[in-house]
Amino acid sequence: MNATAATAVTPASKAGTTTAQAVTRFAEFPFHDAIFADLADAGFEIPTPIQAACIGPALEGKDIIGLAQTGTGKTAAFALPIIHRLARRMELGALVLAPTRELAAQITEAFEKLGKSSGVRVATLVGGVPMNEDDKALRSWPNVIVATPGRLNDHINYGTKFLSDVEVLVIDEADRMHDMGFIPQVRKIQAALPQKRQTMMFTATMDKEIETIIRQSMRNPARIQVGAVAPAQRARQQLFAVSEEDKTPLLVSLLNDSVGRVLVFLRTKRGVDRLRRNLSRSMHIPMTALHGDMEQEHRDRAMGGFRDGRFRVLIATDIAARGIDVANIEHVINYDFPQHAEDYVHRIGRTARQQAEGVASSFVTRMDGFYVRGVRKLIGDKLPATVPVLVKHGCVEVLSPEQAQAQGHFVNEPNHDKPKRDNQRGGQRGGGGRGRGRGRGGQRNGRKPATARA
Ligand code: AMP
Repeated sequence: MNATAATAVTPASKAGTTTAQAVTRFAEFPFHDAIFADLADAGFEIPTPIQAACIGPALEGKDIIGLAQTGTGKTAAFALPIIHRLARRMELGALVLAPTRELAAQITEAFEKLGKSSGVRVATLVGGVPMNEDDKALRSWPNVIVATPGRLNDHINYGTKFLSDVEVLVIDEADRMHDMGFIPQVRKIQAALPQKRQTMMFTATMDKEIETIIRQSMRNPARIQVGAVAPAQRARQQLFAVSEEDKTPLLVSLLNDSVGRVLVFLRTKRGVDRLRRNLSRSMHIPMTALHGDMEQEHRDRAMGGFRDGRFRVLIATDIAARGIDVANIEHVINYDFPQHAEDYVHRIGRTARQQAEGVASSFVTRMDGFYVRGVRKLIGDKLPATVPVLVKHGCVEVLSPEQAQAQGHFVNEPNHDKPKRDNQRGGQRGGGGRGRGRGRGGQRNGRKPATARA
């Protein structure tokens, strides 16, 4: 956790800039004693910059736009003021929307940990779980509901009325919600909530459309920014120019060289399944897979097992690229180069978290030049040159540019345009899914929303 990251608090009206009150200890916040007990149990001593800037205005009931990525401590920044407000109350008071089930589970965990002594009860409503489980959770008097937009809309469509009690709405990873086509569903949820409420929205990136959505749903929000959208600064990045056929042997070689957790990203759900099947046959490393077409039970088992070390390797679509907080991922491997530059940043941000070291390797084929250039534009010099490699009998041979040229191998990412196959696929990420939000919602940066469930 970078405690020195720059923080700025600006009223969104841009009328002026106010500097965040320099809160250096949790004790400076007027929390109930029960919260201090749980903070101590969690080992949280010093507020992170987003917490130092957010908690004060949130306790005052102000609307907030937080520009912060996962890893900054943003969950506690909104959870702690909510726990303070709802401690020892019977009724529902807060709704937190998250784009993925995994992030929803993580947020629930944070509420349970930090709200344990305050008696705050949380219900999680996500897809892939029988609806009667939701009914059971709702009957147990939750103070906070953490939900994905799709499942909450199902409840609205069934005529469930609990949303009229919500005093605080949190929209986490708003940019991701937008990418996944969830914004129409978020709007429907907002319409079902009382107009008089506090709204806190968190996003890693801010563009015009997100800003418009915010302006429509918030009252003069405080804008709190922590650092910039930056890749994990300490991750050692490497790019390998490789043929499509050599990707798996190269991956096998990298996996054999690793000792800790490895996260492997592919573009499509089918690709994830196929690679997992192939590798499981040939390697004896405990590994698992994660994508949006898997049953919830299997997704939970995959994430839980990767987190607790039962699985050393997780092969996933971009569903695991954001929001997921797993400590000590030694190596992130982009088996398929991401088609959106921001996804590169989010994927490699899974390693070298907090004080850990980490490596991020990306496989670059002839078709990926367009996308590599996109990442170079976004993060500039931090992306190293592409190194041509050959894989022979399981051994990786790094070629000099001259050797590569002599062998007919490409040297740096070729300078061609966006591959046709992607234009035809409408820029989908995560592969041909049947996501709910597909095709709905507007375009952002000229890109269509991807499948709702990567
Ligand atoms: P988040 O960005 O909310 O996903 O948090 C990232 C990680 O930082 C989580 O593992 C939190 O438990 C941890 N964390 C959050 N706030 C603090 C704090 N004040 N001190 C130490 N760790 C924290």
